[in-house]
Amino acid sequence: MTQRIAFIHPSFHIPYIYESASRNGVEFVVVLPPGEVIHHEYPCVIGYETLPLYTAPETALHRLEALHAKWRFDGIMTIKESCMVWTAEAAARLGLPGIDPGAAKAARDKGTMRRLFRERGLVTPEFLVLSGADEIERCQALAFPYVVKPGSGYNSDAVQRVSSWDELVAAVRVVEEVNADTYREVSWHEGQNFSSIVVEEFVEGPEYVVELFALDGDVRALNCGYKGQPPGPCFEETVYLSPPALAREKIREIQAVAVEGMLALGLRNGPGHCELRLDRQGRPVILEIGARIGGSGCAHFNVEASTDVDFSNLWFRYLTGAPPGDYWPPRPTDTGKAASSWILPLGGSGVLRSIDGVEAVRAHPDCERVLLLATIGKTYRPYPHFDGFLAIVFGRHRSTQAGEAFFTFLESALKVNWGAAPRPQSRPLAREQTP
Ligand code: ADP
Ligand code: CA
Repeated sequence: MTQRIAFIHPSFHIPYIYESASRNGVEFVVVLPPGEVIHHEYPCVIGYETLPLYTAPETALHRLEALHAKWRFDGIMTIKESCMVWTAEAAARLGLPGIDPGAAKAARDKGTMRRLFRERGLVTPEFLVLSGADEIERCQALAFPYVVKPGSGYNSDAVQRVSSWDELVAAVRVVEEVNADTYREVSWHEGQNFSSIVVEEFVEGPEYVVELFALDGDVRALNCGYKGQPPGPCFEETVYLSPPALAREKIREIQAVAVEGMLALGLRNGPGHCELRLDRQGRPVILEIGARIGGSGCAHFNVEASTDVDFSNLWFRYLTGAPPGDYWPPRPTDTGKAASSWILPLGGSGVLRSIDGVEAVRAHPDCERVLLLATIGKTYRPYPHFDGFLAIVFGRHRSTQAGEAFFTFLESALKVNWGAAPRPQSRPLAREQTP
């Protein structure tokens, strides 16, 4: 029987969740904020509605009840950070499965998240939460280098490593700007705004990610992936390779920390996307958890291609009250298969002229799919600002080593050509999380 899910403000760039929906008898009614442009050809999307999700969230919740009477939703979901809290509230109002709104807010607010990780005894960076630049003197308590970021940001937007007081002042200014332009509007919980500036200890070791799923407090790691060793000062996302080239015991240790992190935030049901780095002693330091399938659905691929678990379908079943079936508990993560996603580095900024080498990449036997997300002719600013990813390459490999070799190939195969930016741009209202 077909199940109908209200999909709150999705992006349409990444196909994996839509493909899983089509395979598994799920149809979506998409709910968007006013003015959003829609481009896609997914047959599982059967309708559209518009609600003022950001400008009037209470009104949007009220109006959702009328939409529910019209469409009779079996479930409601989002994979966008900016809608996590609203969607949790909406599920509670409609009496549908979902996460606790307080847990959703904890997973959106990096200061609250750090405090809850610490209270559970997890290793997490030393941190301070500033409500504004006027509190900058409190940073005297931390030792350089450290990281400055918007407390409710995403896409690594405005995340900056700083090594001096001058750099700190400049970084805080950037975060204030993005908070005013973007994050204030999308950081809503119980009528309050929770955007802030988080300043925290820099952890320099390699980075890992764990995708998770929880059912009634039983939290399981679905995989573990390597995410590179970004040195800063900006943190452009690049590689994801699952499983990583680590001993099995170390993978288990990282996964165990991620599971504890979910419980620390009260995420007892649904997906989680946990990021960690190793410290100098090799201990996993938990950075954050998103209460969603990561990367706008990229994480579905990373899990399914390396473990055969249909991540999205696990979630669809939970959301619609169906038993998890064969997927639960998930199979062991060491299947012998490896999967990767690789984000094309900007390698410059300005007006995008072209991306060369795509056909050679598509011809590689490990290449599953190349998603071209760039807009030729658009002006892209350098990080720490985020103006969108250019391209993502998905790979299936016979081993982790083959995945590493594929990355080396991609680095030389693809080339981005830039022209000079015409004039300084003001920041667009970047509500979009891409992907
Ligand atoms: P976002 O929610 O925007 O993705 P994150 O807090 O996850 O923000 O930061 C983005 C990236 O910046 C991380 O994936 C990591 O590479 C780097 N980073 C963030 N905080 C730290 C830290 N304290 N130490 C080291 N690297 C960090
Ligand atoms: Ca992150």
